[in-house]
Amino acid sequence: MNKVQSPLYDDSTAFGSLSKNKRLGSYPQLQPLVGTVQASYAQYAAVNGAPTLVQNQPISEAAAAFLKGHYASPPAALAHITKMRESTEHLLCPMCGSMHSGTLDHYLPKNGFPIFSVFSKNLVPACKCNSKRNETLLGANPGERVLHPYFDDCLGERLVSARFEDLGAVPKVSLVLMVSNAHPSHSAISFHVRSIVQRSAVVRYLADRWSSLFLKPSRVVRAFAENIATQVEIQALLEEERAALDDVHKGKNNWNSIFVSGLLDPIVLAWLAARFAVPGRVPDSPLG
Ligand SMILES: [Zn+2]
Repeated sequence: MNKVQSPLYDDSTAFGSLSKNKRLGSYPQLQPLVGTVQASYAQYAAVNGAPTLVQNQPISEAAAAFLKGHYASPPAALAHITKMRESTEHLLCPMCGSMHSGTLDHYLPKNGFPIFSVFSKNLVPACKCNSKRNETLLGANPGERVLHPYFDDCLGERLVSARFEDLGAVPKVSLVLMVSNAHPSHSAISFHVRSIVQRSAVVRYLADRWSSLFLKPSRVVRAFAENIATQVEIQALLEEERAALDDVHKGKNNWNSIFVSGLLDPIVLAWLAARFAVPGRVPDSPLG
């Protein structure tokens, strides 16, 4: 999960040109929609895409089908959609925090909100978590919703950490929230983590990282090639490591930072300190 810059394309003008293109099968059927679409785009941006506030103007099934077709294979007026797909592929997935995006996801699902099918501010980069999310948007309780990478500033905060229990070769691995119940977006964050992050491969990824760390600590934290003398030093090294990872991935909720946050738990720090302090330990040998 990550906060990313909202796209700056002029969607209203693009839709106008799209509707005028006589070479497209959708001509002239999008023309009567132009005013409604442009007003809807402006209203969406004005309420930051909040699902309960966006006015979902109905459009005909035929128009919806044309828009979905244009999304799948964008004509010249919508070339920016192709560009968005390509330019974000290598970046952190803003929805779940995995290391690559690969595709675009409709924040407001295109079946329920067809009018926003080709609206750039409704198209967010995502990885495979997109297909697991499917049409998930709102939870049963007040405030529960999927977070919007373009509008929810809380995505820039550190929201999630790994939790390691039963420390050893194969610990129990889970995710915990790093924000308190008093956080204004707590319900949304908690819902997003449960319905998107948790359902991704993150826990398996964290377990794999642990396994690498356990067998050869320097593979995961370079400074661990040496035995670190004190818990305070281990903590300082890991904080440095996490800051570097936040920087590389341009966000605090990437899976590698989530992993290191789990190591910064005082119980894990104490465990690591005890492992490094075993008399006669060969540097960078397994932590068992
Ligand atoms: Zn993802």
